[in-house]
Amino acid sequence: MAAAIITGSARGIGAAIALRLAKDGYDIALNDISEAMFESNDIVEKITAQGVKCEKFIADVSKYSDCEAMVKAVKDTFGSIDVLVNNAGITRDGLMARMAEEQYDLVISVNQKSVFNMMKLVGNVMMRQRSGRIVNLSSVAGVYGNPGQINYSASKAAIIGMTKTVAKELGSRGVTCNAVAPGFIKTPMTDKLTDEQKKAMIDLIAMKRYGEVEEIAGVVSFLASKDASYVTGQVIEISGGLMM
Ligand code: NAD
Repeated sequence: MAAAIITGSARGIGAAIALRLAKDGYDIALNDISEAMFESNDIVEKITAQGVKCEKFIADVSKYSDCEAMVKAVKDTFGSIDVLVNNAGITRDGLMARMAEEQYDLVISVNQKSVFNMMKLVGNVMMRQRSGRIVNLSSVAGVYGNPGQINYSASKAAIIGMTKTVAKELGSRGVTCNAVAPGFIKTPMTDKLTDEQKKAMIDLIAMKRYGEVEEIAGVVSFLASKDASYVTGQVIEISGGLMM
């Protein structure tokens, strides 16, 4: 059986991707920063109900040593790592003029350094297997910029460059690497926006609604599937036509 690891998958988009990949038949390695993140939901039960194996791996993906231990444990548990989804991410928004250095550095390390850590470690496993699929979560903020998010948009733009680089470095070994760039999706991350901010965003979206987490998971499932075997180094926007 093939296995997939999804970072930051206790809730939100990551949990939806994990459930979708379980439905596709993958054994699932869930990851989040603490056990507590799993307490208020039933993601493990939902995944095992699909008839696949599921294990939780607690690790802070911004830390290389945590990732190293986790990737070894996942490989030992499942035997192979066929799909890596780099989903863990945070926001610490603020206008540049008022942003603290720590606020900038934290978002870069959680959103961007984590993707290096995981692609390097899992990439080594995939290169030896001569197959693998990597999907990274970027954002429309990384493609177009967004006021109040200089840290976040920097991290998400970097992910696009990293995705294209890894697609070029690992393509000859049968490993594809793509990114998805969601627009505004209903999750705990976007619940934090004020009603005024939410309305302003919806006015800009061609489809006049927020996206659902399953609408991200469906595209990730495609990129992990056999049908996407000749797709690499691409960034797919999933934004209901926010920009075009
Ligand atoms: P979320 O906050 O609901 O979930 C993120 C998960 O990542 C949480 O469970 C969190 O505990 C985990 N996490 C945070 N730091 C971690 C760390 N250091 N190590 C391990 N896990 C960690 O967010 P979401 O809305 O589901 O977003 C998922 C991804 O999609 C993020 O990368 C985000 O930037 C991206 N994204 C989201 C939207 C949106 O509208 N929600 C839009 C564009 C991109």
